[in-house]
Order: sequence, then C-alpha cells, then structure tokens
Amino acid sequence: MSVFSTRDFADHEQVVFCSDARSGLKAIIAVHNSNLGPALGGCRMWPYASEEEAVRDVLRLSRGMTYKSAMAGLKLGGGKSVIIGNPRTDKSPELLAAFARAVDRLGGSYIAAEDSGTGVEDMKYMSQFTRHVSGIVDKPSDGGTRSGDPSPSTAYGTFVGIRAAVRERLGRDSLEGLRVAVQGLGHVGLDLAHQLKAAGAKLWVTDIHREPLVRAAKELEATVVAPEEIFGLDVDVFAPCALGAIVNDHTLPQLKAKIVAGAANNQLAEPRHGAALMQRGILYAPDYVINAGGIIDVYYERTGNFDAAALKRHIERIEDNLMEIFARARQEERPTGEVADAIAEERFRR
Ligand code: NAD
Repeated sequence: MSVFSTRDFADHEQVVFCSDARSGLKAIIAVHNSNLGPALGGCRMWPYASEEEAVRDVLRLSRGMTYKSAMAGLKLGGGKSVIIGNPRTDKSPELLAAFARAVDRLGGSYIAAEDSGTGVEDMKYMSQFTRHVSGIVDKPSDGGTRSGDPSPSTAYGTFVGIRAAVRERLGRDSLEGLRVAVQGLGHVGLDLAHQLKAAGAKLWVTDIHREPLVRAAKELEATVVAPEEIFGLDVDVFAPCALGAIVNDHTLPQLKAKIVAGAANNQLAEPRHGAALMQRGILYAPDYVINAGGIIDVYYERTGNFDAAALKRHIERIEDNLMEIFARARQEERPTGEVADAIAEERFRR
C-alpha cells in the first residue's frame, strides 16, 4: 500500500489513525501544514463506504483548510478529522470522549471544530476531555448572544464576496435589483438570502425541505423552484449553499448566471470546471475564499477576547482578497481558482 506518493497525501505533516475498542471509535486526524499556526479544522462524522474513502476525504479536506486559513490571513494551519460511523446511530458520549482524548494527545497541533455529523453540543461535550476544540463559546451579537455556530459569519462573508463579484463582473456597487438564485436554505443559505433581500436583491430559492422554502417565500418574497431548476435560471448570480461538486459536466451547460458565488465547499467537481466557467464568461468566486467567514469567526473565538467589530472588519477583508484574485485572474487570463491557490501558497510557504 502506498501513502506518501499518493496525490492526496500532498505533503501532509502528520496523519494519525485513532481507535478505541470500547466505544468503537475509528477516526483519522490529518494535519496538512502548520507553518502559520496550529491546524484548525472540522471533525466530520460519516458512514464512509470504505476506509480508503475516509482517508481520501480527510486528506483532501485538511489540505483545503491550509489554503482557506492562509488566504483569510489567519495564524492557523490546516487540518481536519473524520470519525467513521453514522452520526445518527453510532455517536455516543463514550465515542466522543475517546475522540477528544485522541485530539488531546496531539497537544494542540490539531484543534477540532464542528462539521457534517457533529455539532456545537458535541464540541461542548468534548471540551471536558480536551481544550483543543472550538466553536463552543457563546458570543456577543446585536446586543444579545449567539451560540458558537459560525454560520452567521459565513453568511456575512458570502454576502460581501457576492458584492465583490458583482463589482468585478457587472461593474456596479449596488445590489438593488440583482437577481440571485440561492441553492440550499440551511444555516448559511437562509441568512444570506435575508442579507441579499435587505440589499434590494430579487431571489429565487430551492431546497429539498419544504419548511425553509415556505419561510423564504413569505419573508423574502422569493420565488421557489424545484432543485433541478435552480441551475438554468436567467439570473445574475448563482449562489450554491448546499452541496459540493455542484459545478459539473451536467450543470455547466445549463448555467445562465454571470457569477457563481456561494458558501458551499468544493463547488467544482474537478479543477477543469473552473477553466470551463472562465471560458463561458462566468466569474467564479473560489469557494474557500468566499466562505472563510466561519473559520475567521472560530479564530476570533479562540483569542478569548471576542471583539465583534474586529471580527466584522476581518470578514470584510474577503472582499479585498476576492478583488485581488479577480484582478490577477484577469491580467494573467487564468481561472480564479488557480490564482487563489497560487496566492494562498505564497502566504503559507513564505
Ligand atoms: P446546512 O446543512 O444547514 O444547509 C444545507 C441546506 O441545503 C439544507 O437546508 C438542505 O436541505 C439543503 N440541500 C441539501 N441538498 C440539496 C439539494 N440537492 N438541493 C437543494 N438544497 C439542498 O449546511 P450549512 O451549514 O448551511 O452549509 C451550507 C454549505 O456551506 C455546505 O456546503 C457547507 O460545507 C458550507 N460551509 C458552511 C459553513 C458554516 O459556517 N456553516 C462554513 C463554510 C462552508
């Protein structure tokens, strides 16, 4: 079996396989790069079909975190962890405690956060066994407090990122009358839709669940469409806020939007789809740049002195990062994703 020479290994500093017979824990923790600081990244719990699939996922995701944090100007490295199992049926306090102890043994080189299959409550529970978890502190917000959930910051970063993309591609500052299709009205998508509406945008929305759609139609005067209709709408912006690999051979020919800018992770099925968007004149806001609000939020939480105004200013730098990427992509006639990777590498390899 080869590991070091595989493409996904990509110069990882450390990959740790953890097991605990009593709780049934089988987990992998990957630290891709810690040049800029400790490796912070989510803990995903998922019933992977094979161990190979779990290894591939954790390596790909942890590398992505290095790029995201470097681009966001954070003193953080990139890491990620996966627990193999079904979060609905296999999760138990014993399993989370065993995982937390495994994180603790790394002495702070990896810091866990919530991800698919884990939540704020799981992180709070794990914090009894290790201090190397984040996303657990209630934060000041609009005169009250909000939970450790970073989604509102992700939504705000995506909003300012859309503003940057509109300035670049459509040459205007106002979002008044902008036509936006939002795919997925979950934690991030619904909040983003509210911000877009407040800025004067006209919305088309879809989800696989009815409840958020009913809310959006009522509160946001949004037009509800079926999931498969969202790609072909004649809109200015397509904002994917649900799934990865959403720009692919099947959806690309349908896209009429001039901009793809949303919060979802890993939006391009393959890197070549970034080049295909460029060829069609569609401006792509690289996913890990525009959705960095969440990691910035978690970083501020870790400073122990949560300054909401400083956090907001830092999230707004997403707009500057995107403008830099768009300008360089235009000058060099390269896909925006490629340019983003080059800038991130300059930052974390320095
Ligand atoms: P979520 O699970 O709360 O919301 C996702 C929504 O998408 C759900 O309402 C779901 O029903 C809907 N959905 C699923 N499949 C769909 C489909 N085929 N068509 C239409 N809708 C569909 O997740 P979230 O926290 O809002 O995150 C959304 C995306 O943003 C994810 O890709 C996530 O990885 C990414 N992201 C989130 C954060 C964060 O802070 N929450 C940070 C960075 C990136």
